[in-house]
Amino acid sequence: MTTQREQLEADVLIVGAGPAGLACALHLANLIKKHNEAGGSSKSGPQLSAENIYVLEKGREIGAHQLSGAIMNPKALAELVPDFEKSAPLDTPVTDDAALLFTRGLSFRFPITPPPFKNMGNYVVSLSKVTKWLGGLVEAAGVNVFKEFGGAEMVYEGDGIGGVITEDKGVDKNGKPKDNFTPGYELRAKVTVLAEGTRGSLTKKLVEKKKLDNINPQSYGIGIKELWDVQPGRIAPGYVAHTLGWPVSTEMYGGGWIYGLSNNRLSIGLVLALEYSDPQFDPHAAFQIWKTHPFLKKILDGGKLARYGAKSLPYGGWYAMPRNYLDGGLIIGDSGSFLDSQRLKGIHLAMKSGMLRNVSWIFSHGVPADHRRARVDRPHARARGTRGVQENRRAAGS
Ligand SMILES: Cc1cc2nc3c(=O)[nH]c(=O)nc-3n(C[C@H](O)[C@H](O)[C@H](O)COP(=O)(O)OP(=O)(O)OC[C@H]3O[C@@H](n4cnc5c(N)ncnc54)[C@H](O)[C@@H]3O)c2cc1C
Repeated sequence: MTTQREQLEADVLIVGAGPAGLACALHLANLIKKHNEAGGSSKSGPQLSAENIYVLEKGREIGAHQLSGAIMNPKALAELVPDFEKSAPLDTPVTDDAALLFTRGLSFRFPITPPPFKNMGNYVVSLSKVTKWLGGLVEAAGVNVFKEFGGAEMVYEGDGIGGVITEDKGVDKNGKPKDNFTPGYELRAKVTVLAEGTRGSLTKKLVEKKKLDNINPQSYGIGIKELWDVQPGRIAPGYVAHTLGWPVSTEMYGGGWIYGLSNNRLSIGLVLALEYSDPQFDPHAAFQIWKTHPFLKKILDGGKLARYGAKSLPYGGWYAMPRNYLDGGLIIGDSGSFLDSQRLKGIHLAMKSGMLRNVSWIFSHGVPADHRRARVDRPHARARGTRGVQENRRAAGS
């Protein structure tokens, strides 16, 4: 039996309200505002409405699926919201950025902090608070944000995509409809932007179906994070340290972090590439062992665990980035592998990828009614492709 679904039409449909999806929505809403204030033009078309931008978020609320306690490079946010410092919930600026080498019982501070670990000029933030704040700006700009709406299936159209079907509500654990069954919506859009974060369920299917993968398959890391409330005086707000060594062996790619937030709150964690050869190695156990190092024990003693979580990160880098455009669609943020694993930075890259030229291109070519599909410009592909990448793409028929 085919399910009857209500259909809705949007200009731009963004799946995922993380930093990437929200930056994309706000950037487009800003462009629409500018365009309307200029009275429209013959080239760019009539007056437009930000209400025709839809954002889907599967979480209960915006920010619910973010792990707090991160360092944010403010570059992209400054471009998006020039006076962000006045209203953004920035916890504290970074005041010290150390690189530490751990042995089993000792720690050594590098005399010079290597460039990837330099963080002066950045902010320690609660990512869930920043995302919530950004979501507020997006809604105030008139964009429609639908919370607790997960994109479940892609709608394919011709060579590209035409929208998303949202998940059905009221199904039992075996997927069978219950009395309160409500079918998901069929949301159609001129442009669908996938901003689902790491290992996005729709993105994975789309990349496989449309052969958008790169010369290397995507590989992943795992980040395990805990937030602690520690005794006063144990850590200065804005203190940032990255640790190398014990208990991570030299054959593994990864290390730890210690970030001091305000009010004696601390973010600690261990991040590891999931490519280790020892099948018995357990990153969660390694994290607990790492916490017993004297350097950390001294800080944590008498403190209280406030929150914890773990999440994957796209670690494949340049040669594992999927092609991030196709007819009617774009892939941004972690879904598009915009993450710098060496620096453990993805927030500003996710935002920037939501504001790049190809997203602006949606505005000038995709939104006005006389253009049905978004076709992203080839120079963008040339700019990021190497000969090998392009050859692979050609071989894949794209
Ligand atoms: C442990 C850890 C520590 C990190 N520390 C830092 C740091 O200190 N600094 C830094 O810059 N970066 C850090 N990062 C990376 C950073 O968090 C990500 O790069 C960034 O959040 C990516 O943003 P995004 O919008 O692409 O994805 P996400 O932030 O993952 O957001 C995706 C959103 O989409 C929603 N979603 C997913 N699928 C669907 C669907 N099908 N339908 C509807 N909604 C959907 C999710 O609920 C989520 O809200 C860290 C990552 C981890 C795992």
